[in-house]
Amino acid sequence: MPPMISTNYIEVAVTLPVNQTFVYRLPDRFRSDACSGMRVLVPFGRRRVTGYILEGKEESGPYKTKDVLDLLDDHPLFPESDIAFFKWVAGYYIYPLGDTIKAAMPAGLSCMDVSCAFATVKGAQALEEGGLPDEEIKVLELAAGKDGISLKSLARRDPAGAAVLRRLEKKEWVQVTAVLQKETAGIKTEKFVSLPEQTPNQQIRMSAKRQKILALVREAREISLTELKRHVPTAPNLIKPLAQAGWLNVISRRVFRDPLGEPVTPDTPPELTDEQAAVVKDVQGRAGLFSPCLLVGVTGSGKTEVYMRLVADAVEKGRGAIVLVPEIALISQTERRFRARFGEEIAVIHSMLSQGERLDQWRKISLGKVNIVIGARSAIFAPIREIGIIIVDEEHDYSYKQESGLRYNARDLAVVRAKMHNCPVVLGSATPSVQSCRNAMTEKFIKLELTRRVNSQTLPEITLVDMKKYQGTWGTDSIITPELGRAIRSCLEKGNQALIFLNRRGFSTFPVCASCGKTLGCPHCDVTMTFHKGADHYMCHLCGHVFTADIRCPDCGTGKIRNLGFGTEKIESMLKSLFPDARVARMDQDSTAKKGSTLAILRQIRNRTVDIIVGTQMLAKGHDFPAITLVGVLCADLTLSLPDFRASERTFQLLAQVAGRAGRGKDPGHVIMQTFNPDHFTIKAARSQDYLEFFNQETPFRKALMYPPFSRMVQLKISGKDAEKTRDHAQLAADILERFNGQEPKAQILGPIEAAIQRISSRFRWQILIKGPSSGNISRMVSAMVRDPAIQKVKSVTIAIDVDPYSLL
Ligand code: ADP
Ligand code: ZN
Repeated sequence: MPPMISTNYIEVAVTLPVNQTFVYRLPDRFRSDACSGMRVLVPFGRRRVTGYILEGKEESGPYKTKDVLDLLDDHPLFPESDIAFFKWVAGYYIYPLGDTIKAAMPAGLSCMDVSCAFATVKGAQALEEGGLPDEEIKVLELAAGKDGISLKSLARRDPAGAAVLRRLEKKEWVQVTAVLQKETAGIKTEKFVSLPEQTPNQQIRMSAKRQKILALVREAREISLTELKRHVPTAPNLIKPLAQAGWLNVISRRVFRDPLGEPVTPDTPPELTDEQAAVVKDVQGRAGLFSPCLLVGVTGSGKTEVYMRLVADAVEKGRGAIVLVPEIALISQTERRFRARFGEEIAVIHSMLSQGERLDQWRKISLGKVNIVIGARSAIFAPIREIGIIIVDEEHDYSYKQESGLRYNARDLAVVRAKMHNCPVVLGSATPSVQSCRNAMTEKFIKLELTRRVNSQTLPEITLVDMKKYQGTWGTDSIITPELGRAIRSCLEKGNQALIFLNRRGFSTFPVCASCGKTLGCPHCDVTMTFHKGADHYMCHLCGHVFTADIRCPDCGTGKIRNLGFGTEKIESMLKSLFPDARVARMDQDSTAKKGSTLAILRQIRNRTVDIIVGTQMLAKGHDFPAITLVGVLCADLTLSLPDFRASERTFQLLAQVAGRAGRGKDPGHVIMQTFNPDHFTIKAARSQDYLEFFNQETPFRKALMYPPFSRMVQLKISGKDAEKTRDHAQLAADILERFNGQEPKAQILGPIEAAIQRISSRFRWQILIKGPSSGNISRMVSAMVRDPAIQKVKSVTIAIDVDPYSLL
């Protein structure tokens, strides 16, 4: 427990869009319990809001202070040392500090926060004495119950209740406090049955079934109740009297299962390969020093084993560890492997947990009961006190970028947090991001490598099929080429599984020239144009350039532009008719919308109850399915034509990852990659699975056009319900930015332009992109702009700030 606050005042970050912190007086009654990292309820204007205690203050400062109304936690949610980190995050992402902390905390917290009215002693007396008006009696009676009455349910019962409540509050007959509702979610436990050390002398009647149970327990020494039930279905009832008479011991113990429902058995660490040992030794040698490392290791080279060694080592040295992995990998296997190694010692945070379970994990960490956290991006905020190592697996993965609210990148924050804790941070990948590669080139990062697969398997062989050959053909041939069809057939004949990948997502279409195969790009920016249905034209999302819908290919001058438009669902039905005997399943955003369906599909693949699985990128990453020997990529170009300067990078990574799904078992893998652009350097680099080849070809473009990592970017997303007001506000923002753009080096302000999706949930959307050599300069401009009174005055239009944006749509 950190030291209690002994001062009269505290500095509080309130959860409101404000740019500063506030000082409140801490009444005596809280002084022995309050410490930094706890939440308080404070008055703010006419409202009451939640805030986080940052630190104690001796002085109140120049303003008159108000009193803290309530202390909401009995334990700090985060250690004091994290405050510097939160301040950094808030500053960098230009986001209010209180809201930043709120975004960093597990979601359940604030949702469970309800304001409740409780009758005070005085109120209870008044109620007893009687003679009150009916409406007051009604409310007081409700508030006099053990759990009080939440303001919400009061309003539901009685529309006039709120007014009455205020009256009662004034008389100090009731008190309104925020209450953290108790979690109902429990921990999964299981009963285990064993024999006691001594035979009991208390005799009971031994029926045949009871004897059978005793025999089973004797044989197994210890057996789970679930297992017992399998032999004797009525075991739960039968063991009770046996346990009471001392014939059996029954204990409840926490059990771990992987998300697929299989129990996890403890493992023993294997002996490291020479390459692994060298990497582990290198990183261990950097303990206690901020050392950002990029670990490039081909798929199957044993990166996870390296991570586990480093984590074990940090814990041995008395420090904690944070391991970040993409959500989907966590579900399919990484959690299982860490469980097998670390069992009870870890906390796991991901979206498959209920809010209660997540909160429970968080508490375990903040109370110091566990020292290892493994989780998806939000785990970077886990309240570990002294971090010894941070791992980011699949560091190139886009799921590390949060795309709403506090738009942070967990990979980048991992490096920041490691710096604050003076510890190594290992970013691992087989297909590292251009950003991290460049950091390794410029020696900002230390480069480590694993070049061989542990079991000396070879990487799968990749065949390119030029889809232009089948342009004239109608029907399925143009989508599932004869080459791919043959490969699927032979895969099925061998009894193996085939994975068919098509990343057709979102609203957009993909303009490709039907005769030369080039995608329709913007003449001013290195991005692909996007077709806008409403406006019936193509538009560039960076500069706003427009082509009419009937344009001919500007590249070859003749070709008609085709908007490729087939999705996974269509493919699924095509495959079903092409291979009527095969069992076909689909995994994409649509088929997994229902809770639990992702796991159900993964289980089907694992149990081999499907033969062909069609899917989007959800299927491309992290999974380890040994029976998949064929991977078919239907249109490798789809992501290449995304309106984003990272389109090539994204495509390369995705293709290399999906190819890596093939041949992870005994049988070698084969990949058929269908493409309109077999000569594109991205496709070629993906084929040779060579990230350096890709990096060397990609970076000159980025450099020439001043894109990251050669510049910094901030995107402003402006939205409002009124079309005109939104447009005007966007223009105003751009004008103000321009005014603050005096300092050298100057930034480029592009826009405002209308967003690709012009309206979402009846809000009109505009964008401004700011690009420049220095992030400090851009950040100053943007902060000054959002604080400008002219901007602040307009409440009906919001400006969301996306620092280092990933999705420019
Ligand atoms: P990556 O994360 O690089 O794709 P993994 O860590 O998943 O690779 O390792 C691939 C496989 O090799 C896993 O099944 C893992 O258990 C196994 N493995 C890793 N290191 C060793 C080792 N030193 N000896 C034996 N098997 C290993
Ligand atoms: Zn063309």
